[in-house]
Amino acid sequence: MTEPIIRVKDLHKKYDDFEAVRGISFEVMEGEIFGLLGPNGAGKSTTLEIIETLRSKTSGEVIVKGFNLDTQPNEIKKIIGVQLQTSGFYPNLNLVELINLFAGLYNQTVDPLALLDKVNLRDKSKAKYKEMSGGQKQRFSIATTLINQPQIIFLDEPTTGLDPQARRNLWELIRTIREQGTTVIITTHYMDEAEVLCDRVAIIDQGKIIALNAPGELIDQLVESGFEKPGEVKKANLEDVFIQLTGHVLREN
Ligand code: ADP
Repeated sequence: MTEPIIRVKDLHKKYDDFEAVRGISFEVMEGEIFGLLGPNGAGKSTTLEIIETLRSKTSGEVIVKGFNLDTQPNEIKKIIGVQLQTSGFYPNLNLVELINLFAGLYNQTVDPLALLDKVNLRDKSKAKYKEMSGGQKQRFSIATTLINQPQIIFLDEPTTGLDPQARRNLWELIRTIREQGTTVIITTHYMDEAEVLCDRVAIIDQGKIIALNAPGELIDQLVESGFEKPGEVKKANLEDVFIQLTGHVLREN
C-alpha cells in the first residue's frame, strides 16, 4: 500500500432536484481492499458507477491511476474491471462461451480454463450459466472482471444472498486477487464482511462520508468513547456455530 490509485474530490451527483452524493472525498491506496459501507440509498452505487465511468457526475474531480475522468475516461476503462449484475449473463451459454464473448468485447485473448481455475470453476466449464448455484455465479462474475487484467476491480454487493460457506469462499477469492496485485473496491451492507475483508472503509450516509478508517480503528474509537455493548458479549455467534457444525467446505455442486 503505497500511493493513491484513486482520488475522489468533492464529488456531487444530482438526480433532478435530489442530491444523492453531497461532496464526497476519499483516496484508495494501491493494493488495498477498500469498502464503501452504508444503508440502502446512501449513494454507494452512484459513487462507484461514476468512478467506473458508467454514470455522469454533477461536479467534483475523479482521478484513477493518474487519469482524469473528465478527459481520459477511455484510459480509465482499460485498467478497471467491473462486476456485472448477475442478470447480465446469457443464461444458455456455458462458462467458456461466456468468457470468450467477454474477451471479444474487451478485445483480449484469454485462456478460459486458466481463468476458471482462478475462481475454482474449471469443472463447471461446460455448464450453462443458469445451471450454477448463487455462489458459483458470483465467483464467475468476479472471474469476468479479471478478463482485461485490470489494476482495480469494483465489486458491488458481491455476497448478497449467499450462504455462510459461499461468502467465506468469496472472501478468500477476493483476498487472493488482492494478493496478486489488484486493488479492490467493494460495497457491502454486511458489517462482519467489511470487518474481516477491508483494509479501510468509508461509511456513507445520505450522500456524505461520515467516517473513514480501518475497521479496527473505528471500533477502538467507539470503545474509547465509552461505548458498551448491551447484554453479555459471547465469544462466538450463531454463524460460528453453523460453520463449526457444517464445515467450511463448499457443498454447492
Ligand atoms: P446505494 O447504492 O447506497 O443503495 P444509490 O447510489 O443506488 O444508493 O442511490 C442513492 C440515491 O439516489 C437513492 O435515493 C436513489 O433512489 C437515488 N437514485 C439512484 N439512481 C437514480 C436515478 N437514476 N434517478 C433518480 N434517483 C436515483
